[in-house]
Amino acid sequence: MTVRDLVILGCSSQQPTRQRNHGAYLLRWNDEGLLFDPGEGTQRQFIFANVAPTCVTRIFVSHFHGDHCLGLGSMLMRLNLDKVTHPIHCYYPASGQVYFDRLRKGSMYHEVIEVIEHPVDKEGLVIEDDGFRIEAYYLDHGIDTLGWRIQERDKRKFDREKLRSFGVDGPLVKSLEAHGDIEVHGKRVRLDDVSYLRRGDIFAYVADTMPCKGALHTAAKASLLLCESTYLSKHQDLALKHHHLTAMQAAEIAKEAGVHQLVLTHFSARYQDLTDFLTEASAVFPNVLIAEDLKVFPFLKSL
Ligand SMILES: [Zn+2]
Ligand SMILES: [Zn+2]
Repeated sequence: MTVRDLVILGCSSQQPTRQRNHGAYLLRWNDEGLLFDPGEGTQRQFIFANVAPTCVTRIFVSHFHGDHCLGLGSMLMRLNLDKVTHPIHCYYPASGQVYFDRLRKGSMYHEVIEVIEHPVDKEGLVIEDDGFRIEAYYLDHGIDTLGWRIQERDKRKFDREKLRSFGVDGPLVKSLEAHGDIEVHGKRVRLDDVSYLRRGDIFAYVADTMPCKGALHTAAKASLLLCESTYLSKHQDLALKHHHLTAMQAAEIAKEAGVHQLVLTHFSARYQDLTDFLTEASAVFPNVLIAEDLKVFPFLKSL
């Protein structure tokens, strides 16, 4: 089985702390490495996490505040140094093209890798390819900020027992899949008689935002939602002032969107101990975990 997990490379907000590096999140999924919001120091965090940066295939930037993008240039430079042979797809808000360009070309080096730019200027479907269906929705953070929603393809799963009882085996299975139904020993067998469609899992990343419809669209029915929760409710005034979420608001989004698992991140430097984030969020949405630098959360397959 291929690796399926979420590696927390950093989980601070604007200001890193001794315990928390600038945010960056690596989702290893179906032989790809999806890197979200590489903040400062991301390249080095890969070393601490014991993960080779060369696994990165796609980079997503939610918005161009420094804590979400200042590691982009050095990550691309590193992938260039490692001479990765696969293309690196970069997805980001189109209005931040000037910042993307500056980060990509911020230092002198001879680019040998293939970087494919995907500036996004509208909500909804961004791209659907062999690997994933990628959608983006605008969040409410005072500047163009995108929530990312990634879904793997649905997969047909065959039930061995049923195949046996219908007498379908060998090349007949392929034929059934191709045609939808076949005749076996004078009896018609339909695809649904012996198989079911397994819905592809969904990963959602809600970056800096206040509560908004875009966050709900991003997170709807996600298997795993990674969500910012910069503040505790006791600092709700600050959350409002700086266009951020509290732990409780993040939990409310998870609950309303019907997600399976919530991971909280992007914590303000004012908090050393994060226990209250867990307490506050789990009162609203029980299936919650707290990000921590270099922590790895399994991204389990749903049935
Ligand atoms: Zn931020
Ligand atoms: Zn921000």
